[in-house]
Formats: sequence, C-alpha cells, structure tokens
Amino acid sequence: MSTIRLEIVTPERKVYDDDVNMVIVRGVEGELGILPKHAPFVTPLVISAMRIKKGKEEQIVAISGGFLEVSQNKVVVLAEAAELPEEIDVNRALAAKERAEKRLAQSSAEELDFKRAQLALQRALNRISVAEKK
Ligand code: ATP
Repeated sequence: MSTIRLEIVTPERKVYDDDVNMVIVRGVEGELGILPKHAPFVTPLVISAMRIKKGKEEQIVAISGGFLEVSQNKVVVLAEAAELPEEIDVNRALAAKERAEKRLAQSSAEELDFKRAQLALQRALNRISVAEKK
C-alpha cells in the first residue's frame, strides 16, 4: 500500500511523524481525505478530530485549529495544539467545558469574550470526544 509522510507539529512539540496511508481532516470548507501523491494544497483547519489510517489501524488526534499543507508526498499539520487520545486529561477538559459554558451564559453574543468562550468550549468538547476513542 502506498504511503504519504505525516507530520503534526505544534509551537511546543512534534506530536506525530510517520508514513501513513490516508489522512482525514476537517478544513474550513469541510472534510477532506488526503491520499499518497495528493496535489500541493494548503487549508486552514477547524477544531476537530483528525483521523490517520495506517495499515489496518486508525489513529485519532485532537486538533485545535491551525493549517495543513500538502507538498511532495508530505502532509504537514501546523496545529495550535494537538493531542493523542492517551495524552488528554479528561478532567481538565471537563473543567474547561464548565468554565466556557459559564462564560457563554454570562456574556452576550456580540462580545469578544463570547467568541473566545465558544472556541474554548469547542476545544474542550473535541478533547472529550477524542479521549473517549482511546
Ligand atoms: P485549558 O483552559 O484547560 O488550558 P485550552 O483549550 O485553553 O484549555 P489550549 O490553549 O488549547 O488549552 O492548549 C494549551 C496547552 O495545553 C497545549 O499544549 C495543549 O495540548 C494542552 N492541553 C489543553 N487542554 C488539555 C487537556 N485536556 N489534556 C491534555 N493537554 C491539554
């Protein structure tokens, strides 16, 4: 089976670096499957679970936004934050979810705080959902 190199990096660390068969991500324009020899391509990513297919295995990674670039049979994901399921502290994500929900209840939709809380809630829900799949 042919492969494509996948690197997931954040400002803090390298989260993933391996040859894989397929990468499925959620870009701003929707879900996208990337196979070996994909044409050069760049897209912003939304907060979502990224899926990596390697042989018979599927790995899932929580991505908190960023960019994806495909070039020369290599996918580079530059994520604001990214965690494998076993790295996720579920209690921390549950606490972040509660904080965000409180802030959403206390601010109105026009406020910057509201938007910030919405994103924090999305990150927390994404982490909780990815952690369930370990
Ligand atoms: P919190 O309010 O709990 O810090 P956050 O969504 O604001 O959550 P981020 O700013 O997205 O956190 O991430 C900061 C760093 O903390 C990143 O390195 C990220 O991987 C890590 N991180 C955030 N939440 C968790 C979690 N629940 N489990 C493990 N690592 C986490």
